[in-house]
Amino acid sequence: MSDLTELEAIGMAASLVEQLDAPGIGDEIYALAAELYPICRSITGPGVRETLAILQRSVPLEVREVPTGAPVLDWTVPKEWSIRDAYIKNAAGERVVDFREHALHVMSYSTPVRATMPLQELKKHIFTLPDQPDLIPYRTSYYNENWAFCMRQRALDALPDGAYEVLIDSELKDGVLNYGEYVHVGESSDEVLFSAHICHPQLANDNCSGLALLTLLAARLKGVKTRHSYRFLWAPGTIGAIAWLAANETNTSRIKHGLVLSCVGDAGGPTYKRTRRGDALIDRAMTHVLSAATAAPNIIDFFPYGYDERQYNSPGYLLDVGLFQRSQFATFPEYHTSADNMDFIRPEHLAKSYSWIVGAIDILERDRAYLNLAPKGEPQLGRRRLYAAIGGDKDSYAKSLAMLWVLNLSDGGHTLLQIAERANTPFATIAAIADLLEEKGLLAKA
Ligand code: ZN
Repeated sequence: MSDLTELEAIGMAASLVEQLDAPGIGDEIYALAAELYPICRSITGPGVRETLAILQRSVPLEVREVPTGAPVLDWTVPKEWSIRDAYIKNAAGERVVDFREHALHVMSYSTPVRATMPLQELKKHIFTLPDQPDLIPYRTSYYNENWAFCMRQRALDALPDGAYEVLIDSELKDGVLNYGEYVHVGESSDEVLFSAHICHPQLANDNCSGLALLTLLAARLKGVKTRHSYRFLWAPGTIGAIAWLAANETNTSRIKHGLVLSCVGDAGGPTYKRTRRGDALIDRAMTHVLSAATAAPNIIDFFPYGYDERQYNSPGYLLDVGLFQRSQFATFPEYHTSADNMDFIRPEHLAKSYSWIVGAIDILERDRAYLNLAPKGEPQLGRRRLYAAIGGDKDSYAKSLAMLWVLNLSDGGHTLLQIAERANTPFATIAAIADLLEEKGLLAKA
């Protein structure tokens, strides 16, 4: 092997990334999301259990139960909601709105109703999107007993006056709130938390994409040795995260880093919302990965609205959990409408989202400080076959420069990520160089 090839052999793909990444991952995530898509989920009920049962085929996650009425932090677990059927029928007995056609047609947590009423009265219980007349909106009423239908404005406009038969065959009763939990045990009890919300019905990007990506990530991680332990949560938004926090008061201090995932399958973004702290390792890791991968990532500061990062970053916990998305929620026209369907997400976008998250995991796993064991002057790299001939080969030059950065900053006070940031070089390259220098006896872990 020549001097040059040894340096050139340093690729972007480090061992962990190789083990987690795989061709076809985007198609696998997409197929799983497609299977979850038609299920009518809510914050409780059979749709959540059906979804978790599908995920269990890929990962041995535990299905947890918290009973209705249980106090969880400042909240109370609500009644369990289920729905069998719902429709609006015209005078001819035809279903002009049909729950079986789309789960979004019924406001989530609608109380049961069976009545016949004039259109004018029925309209008080109908949501549409006048600006997007061909789309069905997504509406919920979890903590306020009410019933409503959601429909296309164009379909509503086509309804003649008259009496309509209305049925919502739903039930609100004492039951349980469910969430799924899986822990991958690493060398350390320090944990990385991954969390995705499981409460949305028939919406593809928000959040079948996140549920499916997390599941296949957990499945891949299962066979891999890691430094950290990894905890995965598939939980209903807000109340699920709150129920988990309430049940794990003594465990939350183990969580050192985390990411909430939602809307990870569209072409937009990428978006990363920082932790409340703002400069946590996960913030720097995601910023580094996304900045290296895309020209203009949308990296935003924490604000106390959005997904369950709100709960994890609440002042009583202050866990370093950020939010990863493609398009930022509520900024795209398909958001919370029937246009958030399986055509809106694509395997190639899911594959990219997956690879960026794996890139961040690689940083969490391998970031550490080293000591240069020959710190007086530059060590003679040529003698150790580490010096690349510079002439003409830009890549070799970049790697040689990266190696000099690693040697120069390995004083025990700079971690590899800090070196990667300062050298403006991908972390994977810096980490691979550190491995090589350690093998050559020039570096030791600090
Ligand atoms: Zn949503």
